[in-house]
Amino acid sequence: MVTRKIRKDELNSFYQSKFDYFRVVSGYSAILIGLLEMSYFISDCVLYGRFATETFIPRFSIIIPLILFLILYPRVISYKWGTLLYYLMPHAAMWCTIWAIYHLENRDYAREGFIIMHFAFLAIGFATPLKYHIVLHALLMANIIISNMWNHYEYYTIMLALAIPLYIGVVIMLWILENSYADQYLVKKQLEISSVSDELTGVNNRYIINEIIDPSTDKFSLQKDIVVLMFDIDFFKKVNDTYGHEAGDEILKYVSAKIKSHLSKDDYIIRWGGEEFIVILVDYTIDNALELAEKLRSDVENSNNGICPITISMGLCKYNKNETYHQCVDKADKALYYAKNHGRNQIINYNDI
Ligand code: GH3
Ligand code: MG
Ligand code: MG
Repeated sequence: MVTRKIRKDELNSFYQSKFDYFRVVSGYSAILIGLLEMSYFISDCVLYGRFATETFIPRFSIIIPLILFLILYPRVISYKWGTLLYYLMPHAAMWCTIWAIYHLENRDYAREGFIIMHFAFLAIGFATPLKYHIVLHALLMANIIISNMWNHYEYYTIMLALAIPLYIGVVIMLWILENSYADQYLVKKQLEISSVSDELTGVNNRYIINEIIDPSTDKFSLQKDIVVLMFDIDFFKKVNDTYGHEAGDEILKYVSAKIKSHLSKDDYIIRWGGEEFIVILVDYTIDNALELAEKLRSDVENSNNGICPITISMGLCKYNKNETYHQCVDKADKALYYAKNHGRNQIINYNDI
């Protein structure tokens, strides 16, 4: 279904999407890691055969990173900060465990404790980029190696021998997960694009307008000077009647591509319906817009589309921040109507009518 890979330039957006999708799963797992760490105080009591005073503070000191996590969890939006915050929990749990083990007479079970940690890292890895996981999870082995300097684990070698294959296994699982999420992401992106694209011409369809207006006021949400330009192909019915509907389609594609080639990436060209388009010029004075409109008009008139010569008529309106976008489009439409009634192949500014 999806045939392409995630491109380098969309990696940030991909990781953010992955983080947004899995943040709750990984977030609750992080909280669970904190609770689990405290619950291991019970196993310490079992080992001692009494209330394990010695490991009480080490085990419960996880409360500090846990509270920090709970405070920051709703505030952290970006995946980069999220990654740092989320991995704090398994690492903090790791060090609380190392501290508790330091006090235990019987350190045999440290082996099991560290094996369980891999699952904590796995759960955090759902939301975070695999490339970061590979490094941050590898630190688990570093934690064991460093803490062995004073904890002197009885089964140190076997501990590492168990940890390394588990680490590799978790990385493979997360690699599979990241790839399957990539498919999801690409399908979602494709749907997003096609929902605002016109099938024939490839320019935007009307629905794109929802992305640039404030739905509560119907005003443009762009904080720049806007000029709305509406254009329509002159005598297009005749083109269809003379050369056929397919030739008409080719001209529609040709004209929309031609207009688009003059616009910057901040501007929008929208197929408003039939052979009528609107162009939203962002950060334009009316004079700049009129100058551009003349370029568009003359370029369409003078270029060869391979079928027949055509011209376009245009109506322009400078957007006034007190009006809705409908009101501005209506004015551009009126200006276009005026251009049609006064000879076509011309540009009319609404304020000049
Ligand atoms: P005017 O100069 O007044 O605009 O004259 P016109 O003939 O262009 O009139 P009008 O704009 O009303 O014509 C619209 C025509 O556009 C009618 C319809 O056949 C044609 N049209 C609309 N959508 C498509 C399309 O997707 N493909 C083709 N080939 N033609 C279309
Ligand atoms: Mg027309
Ligand atoms: Mg029309």
